[in-house]
Amino acid sequence: MDSTFRRTPNIHLQDLIDGLTSGNRVFLSKSITLVESKREDDKKLGAELIDQIIGNTGKSLRIGITGVPGVGKSTFIEAFGKKLTAAGKEVAVLSVDPSSNRTRGSILGDKTRMDELSKDPNAFIRPSAAGSSLGGVASNTREAILLCEAAGFDIIIVETVGVGQSETVVKDMVDYFLLLMLAGGGDELQGIKRGIMEMADHIVINKADGSNIKAAKKAREDYKNAVHLFPPNESDWIIPVGVCSAIEKTGIDEVWIEIEKYESHIHGNGWFEENRKRQSIRWFHERIQAKLEETFYAKPNIKKEIKKREELISSQKLSVRKAVDELFS
Ligand code: GDP
Repeated sequence: MDSTFRRTPNIHLQDLIDGLTSGNRVFLSKSITLVESKREDDKKLGAELIDQIIGNTGKSLRIGITGVPGVGKSTFIEAFGKKLTAAGKEVAVLSVDPSSNRTRGSILGDKTRMDELSKDPNAFIRPSAAGSSLGGVASNTREAILLCEAAGFDIIIVETVGVGQSETVVKDMVDYFLLLMLAGGGDELQGIKRGIMEMADHIVINKADGSNIKAAKKAREDYKNAVHLFPPNESDWIIPVGVCSAIEKTGIDEVWIEIEKYESHIHGNGWFEENRKRQSIRWFHERIQAKLEETFYAKPNIKKEIKKREELISSQKLSVRKAVDELFS
């Protein structure tokens, strides 16, 4: 964030809000950078910014996309995103990458990723948020979603770049969760756990092209059968299973048709609102926990005090309970 935003925060905050809410991409980028900043003065300003725009948020459809590396997520998002922008939608793409120590630019840095979409005036692609913990990265991404909404985006796509825990955190910030899969590998081979399949609102087998079409269709039938055995989900929705080819751009329209069906289903039964409410409350509690931890470890000399007690505890000169009480007193 450039220092002018710090010197006279009040004036510049209003500029930032005006630029952001008019849909200006540069201001949107600056706003996201501000809320991701670890500087104390930026943090304050970032919190103020989010608080001021919160009434302008919530109107997009938030779509999560997951799948193992190489399944074709970025190729899919490129094809899908272009369809949406061609239909007049404004599309933002964010990502959650917990495994990464990569600096900003993990999406755009790799030039082959979403090349066309990144040039599309109706799209906005933001590299993965930097952060030391998954919780921190997730919270930054949630705020980036809010900022994109304030800037007027209709569709926000959140991609999981890492594997493992990031599916759960992305699921918890979106309305609809798409799982991309491949044919011809066992679930185990694909690193996809049953739990992740159960989290999905839609399973699509990608790379259904060339000599792989038959295998993809066979996999679709297998997954359809598997899905019927899943316990009912909270949105009361039977997970559809489809096939597509992100490269040949086939089956992409069908994904959008399913999304629209899902959207009217969850608006009809109240799950859309209920889920959003629950997600916000969970986020609130997560931030309380994170703040508590942050405040505790920011105490003066805390590392030294902990170290000292570690030795006393290991030589049985101090009980854990007493040590903890002392640190909190
Ligand atoms: P990501 O790691 O999930 O983002 O996957 P990418 O989008 O980077 O794709 C990984 C590789 O699979 C690339 O070489 C793509 O060109 C290829 N790929 C992606 N989608 C398709 C598809 O629909 N069909 C085929 N045959 N290859 C694809």
